[in-house]
Amino acid sequence: MAVNNVVVIGAGVLGLSTALALSKHKHVSVTVVSKHMPGDYDIEYASPWAGANYWPVGKPGSNLQKFEKATWPELARICREVPEAGVHFQESRIFGRTKDAGTATGQWFEELCKEDAWFKDVAPNFRILPRSELPEDCDTGTSFTSVCINTAVYLPWILGQCAKNGVTFKRGVLEHISDAGGYHTSSRADVVVNCTGLLASKLGGVMDSSVYPGRGQIVLVRNEAGFMTTTSGTDDAADEAVYVMGRGLAGGTVLGGCLQHGSWESQPDPNLAQRIMQRSIDLCPALAPKTGKVGELSIVRHGVGLRPMRTGGPRVEKERIDGSWVVHNYGHAGYGYQSGWGSAWEAERLVLEALEHNSPWAKL
Ligand code: FAD
Repeated sequence: MAVNNVVVIGAGVLGLSTALALSKHKHVSVTVVSKHMPGDYDIEYASPWAGANYWPVGKPGSNLQKFEKATWPELARICREVPEAGVHFQESRIFGRTKDAGTATGQWFEELCKEDAWFKDVAPNFRILPRSELPEDCDTGTSFTSVCINTAVYLPWILGQCAKNGVTFKRGVLEHISDAGGYHTSSRADVVVNCTGLLASKLGGVMDSSVYPGRGQIVLVRNEAGFMTTTSGTDDAADEAVYVMGRGLAGGTVLGGCLQHGSWESQPDPNLAQRIMQRSIDLCPALAPKTGKVGELSIVRHGVGLRPMRTGGPRVEKERIDGSWVVHNYGHAGYGYQSGWGSAWEAERLVLEALEHNSPWAKL
């Protein structure tokens, strides 16, 4: 059987998941080329900074919703069957405040906060919380079983699965997408998969001007809450948020956050960090049971990640560039993990479709 060469650009959660999906086909030889790899912490690399959990936000009928729906069973399977992948089940409690409608955070969490959420039949144990279980300033509440992903374990785990299936990994920085073929072991690729996240806005041949950063700031602490929780907004700023996510395998608890559209700032803002920590404690007193104050938190690190936002949602489609096929899989904003498998499988389908056209990417 003829072997087809595929180069995946990017080793974030989308690049790795897509490479793993493709590596299961015996007639496909996959090379991943990437500026950053699991283990790196860099402002240009969103994946390590994520919470990360499954809190669906896709609008009904959107591709994002389709990808989120498709991803849940795989995350749940990994959770049940693959303890070394760093994914564990955790209860979620989601609270809505009517006054957050229309704010940056309110819009982001609009679907998540609905009491008749579309995912009520996807995530298990969905229930509407009675008023007695709501925080004082909240108007709605739901709970369901979700997963939390320890990204420091999960990304290397996917990398390892790829390696086991024969995927080759190379470090490289591409100026132009047409340079990708040269990174394959055979020096040419039949299809290139573009998983460059935020940097799709700067990659020659792509230069997607609808991609921009959505800055998120977090604090990783050793304290435990026992469940994950969030609200639709805060009283501090329209683009700030409060969320608490407990990672498995002693990965600590991620406290967030914010969604600052258009900000490339890589350094943590100390004042925002204080607000993040106090809001988290106020929502989740179990984090600091003795004093209810920030001083009781044991901080592992402060962090900033830039979500790869894209007007119109993730781009998962194929395109001819310089006469050869490129499959795009980028622009997953704050939902690259919860939509990752659905999106990777769609990219896989598009690659197989493109390979049928057998059009070589002939850059040597
Ligand atoms: P990235 O992880 O940024 O990877 C891009 C890759 O492309 C990198 O390896 C980079 O080196 C490579 N690359 C780019 N350009 C080039 C080039 N020119 N040459 C070579 N290599 C290149 N999502 C969830 O689902 N659930 C959550 O709870 C969640 N929480 C989050 C919290 C925070 C604070 C943040 C910042 C994000 C969160 N996200 C969450 C979103 C999630 O992290 C992103 O959607 C996801 O990581 C995007 O993955 P990616 O692979 O597209 O991009």
